[in-house]
Amino acid sequence: MSASAYNIRRFSLLKPRYVIIISSVLVLIMIASTFYEYNLNKKEIYQILNEYANSMIHTVSMSSANSIISDREMESLLAQHLLSAAKNTARVDSLGYLSNDALIRLAEENDVFRINVFDKGGNRVMSSNIHDVHTGAVQKYAQIDYIDPILRGQKREMIIGLKEARMEKGNRFAVAVARPYNRGAIVVNLDAESYIGFRNRIGFGKLVLDIGSATGIEYIILQNPNEILAANKNVNELPPYEKDDTLRKVFETGETMYRTTVFEGKDIYEAISLFKIDNEKIGLFRIGLGMEEINSAESRMFRRGIITSLVVIVISVIVLSVIISNQNYSIISNEFRKIKTFTGSVLENMTLAIVTVDNDGRIKIFNKSAFEIFGIPYADYENKSLNGVEKLPGFIKELLGNKNQVKNLEEEFELNSEKRSLLINSAIVRNEIGETDTYSLVIEDVTETRDIQRHLAQSERLASMGELASGVAHEIRNPLNTINMIAQRMDREYSGRLSSDDFNTLVEILRSESKRVNGIIEQFLYFARPAKPNVTEFEVASLLNAVGKIAEIQTAEKGIAFSLEAGEGAVMTADYQQLKQVFINLIRNAVEATDSGGKIKIAHRQEGGKNIFEVSDTGCGISDANLDKIFDIYFTTKSGGTGMGLSIVRQIIIQHGGTITAESKLKHGTKFTITIP
Ligand code: ADP
Repeated sequence: MSASAYNIRRFSLLKPRYVIIISSVLVLIMIASTFYEYNLNKKEIYQILNEYANSMIHTVSMSSANSIISDREMESLLAQHLLSAAKNTARVDSLGYLSNDALIRLAEENDVFRINVFDKGGNRVMSSNIHDVHTGAVQKYAQIDYIDPILRGQKREMIIGLKEARMEKGNRFAVAVARPYNRGAIVVNLDAESYIGFRNRIGFGKLVLDIGSATGIEYIILQNPNEILAANKNVNELPPYEKDDTLRKVFETGETMYRTTVFEGKDIYEAISLFKIDNEKIGLFRIGLGMEEINSAESRMFRRGIITSLVVIVISVIVLSVIISNQNYSIISNEFRKIKTFTGSVLENMTLAIVTVDNDGRIKIFNKSAFEIFGIPYADYENKSLNGVEKLPGFIKELLGNKNQVKNLEEEFELNSEKRSLLINSAIVRNEIGETDTYSLVIEDVTETRDIQRHLAQSERLASMGELASGVAHEIRNPLNTINMIAQRMDREYSGRLSSDDFNTLVEILRSESKRVNGIIEQFLYFARPAKPNVTEFEVASLLNAVGKIAEIQTAEKGIAFSLEAGEGAVMTADYQQLKQVFINLIRNAVEATDSGGKIKIAHRQEGGKNIFEVSDTGCGISDANLDKIFDIYFTTKSGGTGMGLSIVRQIIIQHGGTITAESKLKHGTKFTITIP
């Protein structure tokens, strides 16, 4: 998995641009739906308005029709009654008995208000009300206007109907008949006040008034093309019939129509319907409904729609933002988790040890390698503050506490009595304002590297010293040979001539010292040009027994106890002679380091296919400072030492592909461990 897998291009889908587009679409949808709902509601309101107006018109029409029909019936009954009174009067007239008194009697008998008799010229000549003196009074109309057809002989009888009294206040219902012999007319009046009162109570005009006072109704009019038949108000303000196309259309087609108009400065919704009785077009009913409430309901509705839309928009924007941020959050946290897991597993499994503390000094990372170095699992450290973890070495705690930049710092650390070399670097992560956020120590266990480096340096040193030794050895060997030859010649030629004891001693010293020098030179040369191992298979026990014999002699001389632990049957492949040399050198050093009463031990075991030898003593031991140098050529602490014994040992072991280590404690003893594959 590569780090590029975690690019942020995936977040581009949720750019603010998209949020704005989605919100705008949402807003448009909301506005459209509000508008649609508003129109729907408006339509509904008008529908209800129409239904209301229709039902009004229906009620008025029905009631009016009933009322008019009953009016008409009543009128015709009344007319019949009056006509019969008039005809009765005409009968009396024809008999020649007619007088004012006769008229009074006739009026009483027939229960009518008044009977007037007119001559041909239209002058009233007799009346049932003789006290009724009209002289001087202003006539509202001429009686002749009504009875003209009779006076002219065109009609025998006629129903004049409801009319205002000529002189006085009040209404009259009148009929007229021709006088016998065409001498004029007899007019019979009924005091119509009670009739009018009745008609007002149940009649058509009252109905219009009653219905007209209902709430919401501005006016209610019944009009025909010529005049306004009834209205609950003074409606002169409305345009006259001739100028109103709609009225004409409704009158002609009979189709109910609706419109908005203005009356008394108010908006009016008007329904216009044709009023018919028995297919006779009586007139037009116009019902004007006030629109104030509707208008305010409309604007309320509109406001509500806008507010609802705004609320919905705000909510949807919030919801959208929440969804988007949740989405972003989950994407980011997913990515973060992945990255964390990824980096976490990288951190966990890397060979470098990582110890990280946060700003509060709590341990946040403590990986596997750290566990291997310090020997404590993360669970013991997790989130603990530095003071809470005791096992962590002091110098690490100090570094984590100080949080200073550290570069290639080398520290020694001992775990399970094994020394480790640690190379320490720091990594500091800072926050936006430059404060330390986390502080990490990257720790590398360089023990092996340092060992190799040491061995390498040692080998280099040995190699160069070997070169030198070889040169020196050659140079010394030549004069030494000469000295040796001279000693032999002196021994041959001067033997017996000189005082024999002194002479022999001197020659012997000369020969033994040159032999010793030669031995040293041989060792030099061995070291400078080491012989290739002559590998054979042999029993380990045979090698160690041979070595043991030499050791026994040497230890016995010094009163040191010697022991040998060699398992039977173990076989190994190596240069027998060279290995023997190794053990002879080690035993000689051990004997030299150990006093009488001490112990020397050789042990062998096979482990994982490797031969492991241990040569230990209870001698003087080696100081820490010297322990590093004992394998160096010429390093010696002995006055007569050459410092070459251990160098040769190491050379041989390395040539066999093995290793040799030394552990020592001053005054307690030393142990050499050799491992040969
Ligand atoms: P030499 O024996 O000639 O000094 P070596 O190379 O054999 O040279 O040993 C080097 C040094 O290592 C010795 O001088 C001695 O100080 C130390 N040394 C070696 N073996 C032992 C031992 N068994 N106990 C204490 N010191 C030892």
